[in-house]
Amino acid sequence: MTKYIFVTGGVTSSLGKGIISSSLAKLLQARNYSVTIQKLDPYINIDPGTLNPYEHGECYVTEDGAETDLDLGHYERFLNIYTSQANNVTTGKIYSSVINKERKGDYLGKTVQIIPHITDEIKYRIKLLGKNNKFDFVITEIGGTVGDIESLPYIEAIRQLKWKNSNEILVIHLTLVPYLSASKELKTKPTQHSVKMLLENGVQPDILILRTEHSLNKDIRKKVALFCNVDINSVIESIDVKSIYEVPIKMQEEKLDITVLKKLGLPILEKPDLILWKNFLKKLENPEKNTKIAIVGKYVELPDAYKSIVESLIHAGAKNNCKVELKFVHSEKIIPNKEKDFFSDVKGILVAPGFGHRGIDGKILSAKYARENNIPFLGICLGMQCAVIDFAQNVLNLKDANSTEMHRNTKNPVIDIMEEQKEITEFGGTMRLGSYMCKIKKNSKAFQAYKNTSIKERHRHRYEFNNNFLEEYEKNGMIATGINPDTELVEIIEIPKHKWFVGVQFHPEYKSTVVKAHPLFIEFIKNTIC
Ligand code: GLN
Repeated sequence: MTKYIFVTGGVTSSLGKGIISSSLAKLLQARNYSVTIQKLDPYINIDPGTLNPYEHGECYVTEDGAETDLDLGHYERFLNIYTSQANNVTTGKIYSSVINKERKGDYLGKTVQIIPHITDEIKYRIKLLGKNNKFDFVITEIGGTVGDIESLPYIEAIRQLKWKNSNEILVIHLTLVPYLSASKELKTKPTQHSVKMLLENGVQPDILILRTEHSLNKDIRKKVALFCNVDINSVIESIDVKSIYEVPIKMQEEKLDITVLKKLGLPILEKPDLILWKNFLKKLENPEKNTKIAIVGKYVELPDAYKSIVESLIHAGAKNNCKVELKFVHSEKIIPNKEKDFFSDVKGILVAPGFGHRGIDGKILSAKYARENNIPFLGICLGMQCAVIDFAQNVLNLKDANSTEMHRNTKNPVIDIMEEQKEITEFGGTMRLGSYMCKIKKNSKAFQAYKNTSIKERHRHRYEFNNNFLEEYEKNGMIATGINPDTELVEIIEIPKHKWFVGVQFHPEYKSTVVKAHPLFIEFIKNTIC
């Protein structure tokens, strides 16, 4: 029977519910249980695909083409499994399906209400993942903070599930124990209040995880246990650590997995096998070499906008026994003849994905600088398109060459809107999304990386390389080394004469995991240190 674990958050946002959920999932997975994680987001957008990255950080894309919250990236990176459309549900999705059912007459004339109709839909979406007992555990992270108006229906849904079948449900509440440096004290009151708020909504948490800057002594744990109505073994410390990847180890030391299994009446099975994970951590903590990579983008003030890229570079760095220092470069600041000011101290340049005109010139200049100075270059999606534009303008001498996204009437649309995108007017969920096949030419940097001629990668774009120009590019030294076998869309471009210059129309960063760093990132980093 599938068990359902809920992770709620109290006191403040950004305590790391996603990392805690992923860490618990990792520990259960390491004990041979099958686990999946779901995020319920209390906002009204149908998905984060239309959200500005400044609002919500990166939009993560799953294999089946869902545009999702960046926490799903953590789930996949920690667990080395794929998630899907069903793993991210928003209030927008819930209301939209309830309203559609109402319009179809499915509620037979009843007044449609938050309880039971919205809460039933929430419960349905949670149980969907546990259908046919595919997983031993479904861990559901509730976005937002307890006490928000928006999360009330979710908490109510948990209350109903627990009321109906308490032995298959477990609630973990993550809160903060702040440290007052003036009085040198850790304070438990915010946690008490936050648990009280959950209790007001009818939910008694089973386990409390306390985020803290300083270790919690026995007295504090006892106090929290007493005031919050949990046993002392269920008060778990989550101390600040340098890397998110240390959290599973910390949670294991705190016996979080054992407490969860005992509470749900499940066997403790064998000791967790975390050898690969620990090997990764060892390499991460003891690098033998170092490198410095520039990430060029327009959202660099908010590194969460490039979360998966940053994590992929960390994974690839560890694989190469190399510490990767990141330098975020704002693409709007790069101007002609000043590129050196930004790049003289870096060993590799990565031009990030993006949409719209802002900052595009700086991205094109970055690709040009990497090309002309033989600096390892990785262009992702818009980054690849910028490399293509630079090559047209400065090597093929097509001075007005551009993407029709930036310059609608260019005479040389080297990047153009995809045929199937031309009639689409709605924004949400309408791009070329999710996993597509790519055939790779042997004798290419891509083949050297993947060691395979057939790969699958995830996409999120509307524009593509214009094949009318391909011959001209290949004659002049930029080659298409990856092609979609069904549509002929160019997926990878390279400059064979360059040390390592690769542009990809897809997003390799969505598929890099802790125990399986992505081959393109591994090769990119490798070429910056040799
Ligand atoms: N804006 C470009 C397109 O739609 C690139 C998208 C991206 O970088 N994800 O094709």
